[in-house]
Amino acid sequence: MPQTIGFIGLGNMGGPMAANLARAGHRVQGFDLAPASLAAAEAAGVAVMGSAAEAVQGADSVVTMLPAGRHVVQVWDEISGSVPPGTLLIDSSTIDVESARRAHACAGERGCAAIDAPVSGGTGGAKAGTLTFMAGGSKEAFARAEPLLRQMGKAVFHCGEAGAGQAAKICNNMILGISMIGVCEAFALGEKLGLSRQALFDVASVSSGQCWSLTTYCPVPGPVPTSPANSGYRPGFAAGLMLKDLRLAQAAAAAAGAATPLGAEAAQLYALYEALGHGGEDFSGIIRMLRGADSGDAA
Ligand code: NAD
Repeated sequence: MPQTIGFIGLGNMGGPMAANLARAGHRVQGFDLAPASLAAAEAAGVAVMGSAAEAVQGADSVVTMLPAGRHVVQVWDEISGSVPPGTLLIDSSTIDVESARRAHACAGERGCAAIDAPVSGGTGGAKAGTLTFMAGGSKEAFARAEPLLRQMGKAVFHCGEAGAGQAAKICNNMILGISMIGVCEAFALGEKLGLSRQALFDVASVSSGQCWSLTTYCPVPGPVPTSPANSGYRPGFAAGLMLKDLRLAQAAAAAAGAATPLGAEAAQLYALYEALGHGGEDFSGIIRMLRGADSGDAA
């Protein structure tokens, strides 16, 4: 059934997600601080509003897609005076678990249902409507959110109570950061040993070294033609965003008292890679630093 949806944060991810909701027949009332994002959203069928508070007026549901936890807490605070009680609030940003729980509490005080529903799938998935959503919140809130999430994504999981979606997201991305570094080290070693990339790929992709970082996102050109290694490490998933997620995982591990030594090492290596000026490149490009040469891919 068509809804009125407030959508706040119309950037690289939020813009195309809001456009997909508008395409599905909803009235989408959008707001962003950046005029360029507003113009692009308007062209895609979103009704552009003058503030976050205006965007949520009369809304059945609200989606936020913002850079970090402090933005989400601030915006949910800001809209709490104007959002109708009973509205469903969905935050799809990747943020720290503590801010996600604060946002849930803020929604509860207003009598609103809430879920944290971060995504994986990147800007390509946002445009194509093929994102994966991992959600945290009550069963009732999830049941209300699921049809909307399915109009922006292809896979939707209920992971548990408030904050569980963010927890799933940072755990998954910690696996990804660590496994990418592992695959990069293996290719760098194989090169030194005179092993061809294709030979290593052929063996490892059907052996116990098999993982997504190898078979879908291979960090050297050749074996997987669609991976960013074949196009100069244009993202894809930028190294700076991987660093953000690894830092969120480290903050959560410190707060929870979990030992994540490889996650900590991965965060340090991506911090170094970003400090060398590569934060805007694809995260698989870290192989160039691990080879000990900051020199582009050696053919
Ligand atoms: P982005 O920077 O392109 O978009 C964020 C938007 O929020 C910007 O347009 C900014 O103007 C707006 N904004 C900031 N503060 C605001 C406020 N107070 N009110 C209204 N608008 C405000 O970022 P993005 O790539 O769209 O990422 C958004 C979220 O999704 C992040 O949390 C990111 O970690 C997560 N994410 C991104 C990707 C990706 O590949 N880009 C993939 C998965 C998850």
